[in-house]
Amino acid sequence: MTESMDRNTQSGGILNLGPSKVTAAHLKRDAFLYVRQSTLHQVLQNTESTQRQYALQQRAVALGWPMERVQVIDCDLGHSGASALDREGFQQLVAEVSLGHAGIVLGLEVSRLARNSADWQRLLELCALTDALILDEDGLYDCNDFNDRLLLGLKGTLSEAELHFLRARMRGGLLNKARRGELVSPLPVGLIYDESRHVRFDPDQQVQQAVRLLFETYRRTGAAHATVMHFQREGLRFPRRLHTGAQKGELIWGELSLSRVLQILHNPRYAGAFFFGRTRTRTWPDGEKRTQRLPVEEWLVLIPNLHVGYITWEEYQENRRHLQENAQAHGIDRRKSPPREGPALLQGLVVCGVCGLRMTVRYHVGQAGLYPDYVCQRAHINRASPLCQHMPGQAIDAAVSRLLLESMTPISLEVALAVQQEITARQDEADALRAQQVTRAQYEADLAAQRYRRVDPNNRLVASTLEAEWNAALRTLQETQQENERFRQKGRLLIDDQVRAQVMALSTDFPKVWNDPHTTDRDRKRLVHLLVEDVTLIKSHEITLQVRLRGGATHTLTIPEPQRSWQTWVTPPEVIQLIDTLLNEYTDAQVATILNERGLHSGKGGAFQGHLIGNIRRSYGLKSRYERLREGGMLTVAEMAKALQTGTGTVKEWLKTGLLHGYVSNDKGIYLFAPPGPDAPTKIQGRKLSKRRCFPADENILDRSKEVQYES
Ligand SMILES: [Zn+2]
Repeated sequence: MTESMDRNTQSGGILNLGPSKVTAAHLKRDAFLYVRQSTLHQVLQNTESTQRQYALQQRAVALGWPMERVQVIDCDLGHSGASALDREGFQQLVAEVSLGHAGIVLGLEVSRLARNSADWQRLLELCALTDALILDEDGLYDCNDFNDRLLLGLKGTLSEAELHFLRARMRGGLLNKARRGELVSPLPVGLIYDESRHVRFDPDQQVQQAVRLLFETYRRTGAAHATVMHFQREGLRFPRRLHTGAQKGELIWGELSLSRVLQILHNPRYAGAFFFGRTRTRTWPDGEKRTQRLPVEEWLVLIPNLHVGYITWEEYQENRRHLQENAQAHGIDRRKSPPREGPALLQGLVVCGVCGLRMTVRYHVGQAGLYPDYVCQRAHINRASPLCQHMPGQAIDAAVSRLLLESMTPISLEVALAVQQEITARQDEADALRAQQVTRAQYEADLAAQRYRRVDPNNRLVASTLEAEWNAALRTLQETQQENERFRQKGRLLIDDQVRAQVMALSTDFPKVWNDPHTTDRDRKRLVHLLVEDVTLIKSHEITLQVRLRGGATHTLTIPEPQRSWQTWVTPPEVIQLIDTLLNEYTDAQVATILNERGLHSGKGGAFQGHLIGNIRRSYGLKSRYERLREGGMLTVAEMAKALQTGTGTVKEWLKTGLLHGYVSNDKGIYLFAPPGPDAPTKIQGRKLSKRRCFPADENILDRSKEVQYES
């Protein structure tokens, strides 16, 4: 209040500049000089303006502010004024003004303080609130003065318009050049501009060959991934030109990535075509700029066959089409695929529970034909990284088919039918409503007809209006009737006893059809597609299946950790029994030979082998021959040597010569010994070993050849 009074009383007071505006209250506060010069501004005004901005300081001094109280904010030099978001200096200025620290704000052509109108209006508002003055080369403004305010606002608007025209002019020039194909834009590696700005092949033969090889490999393999693999396998590198940084323009050689191959295949310049406006940049409400790739039809300029190319325009188009097809085949948004041949029940329905992508089916050949595996391999294809998830499909398929058989029970169908009946009851109500609508339309039509008949035919104008109304009413009636009929037919799926019986029969038929060996994989898969929406798989110590049925019901199933393939081969129980008995007397390899001699086969159908017996032993928890002997109190060589108070060498020697009796405990030829009795051999000096033999030699020969002896 006092300040405004000051203003009035001191009119014509301080100096000649702005006679009625600068008051003592203003002078108590600081002056802020905002210096800014954006790149766009420089285009227009050249470098002098910076000096002119600093010269404003002198004006502030002339108005009465001491030099040391004129604060200079110049950290926005070189920033564009299009938005205040990233201009620290402008925000500092706003802060100072709003805190009431500023008596006056100085700036060259103040409207440029903020090109953006919104910023500008806000600053004006703040200056008005805190009673700060504004000064530029043209004059001094008081934001609380209506005329001054209007002038400033107008200036801001004009400056914004100027920016718009400037941009339009620049873009226009750019576009004209682009339309003629003359715009010089960065070229992809392998192409360069010569002195006369014509596009040429890179004279560096190595670069040319690398680019040519890429296109050739793609032509040969027909897949971008295969092209990457080829370069990797052959240890080939691919050139890249640096577009930014200190080494700008330099060529570096590195590994070829899939994204790079795709980039190159999609770049029309390799086909000798010029393009412009392939992307569109939009500023979002949060001030962030986002660039969007446009489809070819929306590019601003595309001129084929303008300069030399590594491939023809036709080949380029062909490549693009091919890539697009492949993208549809392998794309992230790959939808469910129709049932194909092959036994994988859930083909096209499995989703990876780790990354959410669709999983694919791989088959491996086993004893009884093809076995499905469900694989999440998208990341693997893209970046040659390890498979995301991989699990054998047989158990999964079995679990889902069990679930389907269980859910197709008479009880579940009974419920479904009850729901259907309920829906039918609702339809009766809807029918009644629709019937009312028809009656109403009929009434309206009758009324319109009566009105038409009653009018004097000589009154043409009224008659024709009423006739039109009558026609309209008849049309409405017809439409309502048709609609009613359509709904009736759609809704009248009355479930009579016969249909009910058929449906119930289906519940008993389903397992029959499902388990019928004549039902093909394809048909079974069709049934699954009819009943199952999708199945999400996660493998940890067990496999979790999230089955989503059509109609929304979900079931979570878990199945045990997938077994190794040999574990899935089933060995008949009587054979297991026999193995158990034989192991009392024989080693694994010996047991295998005996079984083979007796004409028995492994679960896989082939011959038994020592290691296979070992596996069976471990999975059925049978004890080995060694364990059985040890449990029977048999001693090792070392224990025997200790018991006989001699060395292990001597024990082996006595075994070999028949003085001791040993038992072969495993296929490595390790012997175990019965504890020594009272007549155990002792060391006798001077007595030849050959004379002391007491066991038949052939039983005791230390045999490392795994040769076996047995009774058949
Ligand atoms: Zn995955």
